[in-house]
Amino acid sequence: MKLSQLPHRHSYADLGEAFCTAISVYGLPEGRLLCHSPDALKALGVDDVDQQDLLDICTGDVRPAGAAPVAGVYAGHQFGVYVPQLGDGRAVLLGEVAAPDGGLWDVQLKGAGQTPFSRGSDGRAVLRSSVREFLISEAMDALGIPSTRAVALAAMDQRGVMRERIERAAVIVRTSRSLLRFGHFEYFAWGRRHDELRTLFDYAVQRCYPDCADAADPVMQLLANAVVRTADMAARWQAAGFVHGVMNTDNMSLLGETIDYGPYAFLDRFDWNAVFNHTDRERRYAYGVQPRIAQWNCACLAEALLPLAGAGGKRSATDIVKSFQSAYTEIYLELMRRRLGLAEEREGDWKLIKSLLDVLHEGGLDYHHTLRALAEWVASGEAGRWSGADGSSTPGVSGRALPDALAQLPEGWLRDYRDRSGGQDAGEQGGVMLDANPALVLRTWVAQEAIDRAEAGDTAWLAELLTALRRPFAAPSDAMLPYTQPPAPGYSCELSCSS
Ligand code: AMP
Ligand code: MG
Repeated sequence: MKLSQLPHRHSYADLGEAFCTAISVYGLPEGRLLCHSPDALKALGVDDVDQQDLLDICTGDVRPAGAAPVAGVYAGHQFGVYVPQLGDGRAVLLGEVAAPDGGLWDVQLKGAGQTPFSRGSDGRAVLRSSVREFLISEAMDALGIPSTRAVALAAMDQRGVMRERIERAAVIVRTSRSLLRFGHFEYFAWGRRHDELRTLFDYAVQRCYPDCADAADPVMQLLANAVVRTADMAARWQAAGFVHGVMNTDNMSLLGETIDYGPYAFLDRFDWNAVFNHTDRERRYAYGVQPRIAQWNCACLAEALLPLAGAGGKRSATDIVKSFQSAYTEIYLELMRRRLGLAEEREGDWKLIKSLLDVLHEGGLDYHHTLRALAEWVASGEAGRWSGADGSSTPGVSGRALPDALAQLPEGWLRDYRDRSGGQDAGEQGGVMLDANPALVLRTWVAQEAIDRAEAGDTAWLAELLTALRRPFAAPSDAMLPYTQPPAPGYSCELSCSS
C-alpha cells in the first residue's frame, strides 16, 4: 500500500475544538520530492513506495485515506518563561496510522503553512532546517535514541519564504508514536481547564501509557513513566554527545522521543559548556546541563498534572521528579560502560569515565573520533599488546605506538582502563565497543554539506548520506570516510532557532 492508502484514524482530532482546529488548506504550493526514508516508510507499513504519492501528500494535493487534518494547541516554558499559548504553528497532523507492529503512528506535515497557532508567522520551514531535521531524525533512530521519524522531504523550487534572506520552503512528513508534549498538559492546567485536562490525560493513557489505566494511582504512574522515559532520552543524548538546543517544555515529548530539531548539534570537541544555538545567550541549554533541564521540565509536567492528583499528590510528584536523577545516572553509566566495553558494573566506573571526559574537555579532543578509535584499538587486539611508551611495564610485551586519535590520552588513564578491562576477551570487548561507538554521526559540517548539495540539486547525495546514517556503527565506505572526520580547524557554523 502507498502512504496515502493507509487508513488514517483521527482520534486526536476527535477530542474536539478545545484541543485542535481543523485545517483545510495546507501543504506546499508546488514542490519536488528531495528524499524519503525507506526504513521509516517500512515502519509505517508502506510497502509500495511511490514518490509521486509522497510528493502529493507533501503538497496537500492528496489527502490520505481517512485523514482529518488538524493543528493542535499547546503551551510551554520557553527558556524558563511560561508562554500560555503556542501550538502547531506550522504543522498539520494528518491522523494516526496503525503500524505493522500493532502501535499507532501520528503522521504530521511540518512546514505546511499557517494555522490558527502561527502567531503571525508564515507557517513555513526552510529547506536548510528541513534537511537537518530529516537527516537527524533518521540518524537518531539508528543510534538507538528515541526520536520522531522522518518519512519524506519535499521542497519548493522557488525561493518562497523570508528569513534573514529569502529561502526555499520545504515540508517534511514526520511520524511519532505520539506527538503529545509536556506543553499540551500545561496549556489546560495553567488555563485552569481541568475537565479538558482530564480528557487529555485519559487520551494520553490510552495512547501512550496504557499500563496506567490499571495502576493504583494512574496520574502518578503516568508521571513516573514519563520521567523514566525522559531520563532515558537525556542519558542517551549525553552518551551520544548530542545537544538538542531548545529544551523548552513544548519540545518535550510525553513518550521521551527527541522532537523538534532546530539548532541541534553533535559535539565535535568535547565540551561540557557547548552551546550551538546562538540565541541561547545565557547558555541555558548547554550540553552539560541537559539532564538538569530535562528534570526541570519533568517538574513542569508534574505541576501540570497536579490538578488531577488526589490527596498527597504533591509529595508523590516531588518524589517521582526526584527519581529522575537515579534513573538518569543508571542509564547513562550503563551506556558509557558499553562505549568503553566494560562488561559488568564496578565501583569506580564513574571515576574512570569522568576522568576520560575531563581529559577530552581539557584537551578539546573530538568526542566521537576518540571513542571510535578506542573501540577500533581494542577490537584490533592492539590494546592488549600495548605496554606504554617505554614498553617496560609489562615484561615480554613490546611497547607499540598508540593510534593518532588516542595519542593525547594520558598513559595513566590508558593503564587504568586496561586494568579495568582485564580478564575480558579482547575480541568480544571490541565487538561490543564497535556496536556502541558510531563511526558516523551527523556532524554540523556534514549536515551543512548536505544542505549545500540539496540546494544545488544533488539529491542523490542526500540519499547516500541517509543510507550511511542508518548504519552508523558499520565501517564506513571509502566515499563516506571523509564525513566521519571532525570539521576542519577553525570551522564554525552558527545555528539559530529561526527555521
Ligand atoms: P520551535 O522553536 O520550532 O519549537 O517553535 C516554537 C513555536 O513557534 C511552535 O508553536 C511553532 O509551531 C511556532 N513556529 C515556529 N516557526 C514558525 C513559523 N515559521 N510559522 C508559524 N509558527 C512557527
Ligand atoms: Mg517546538
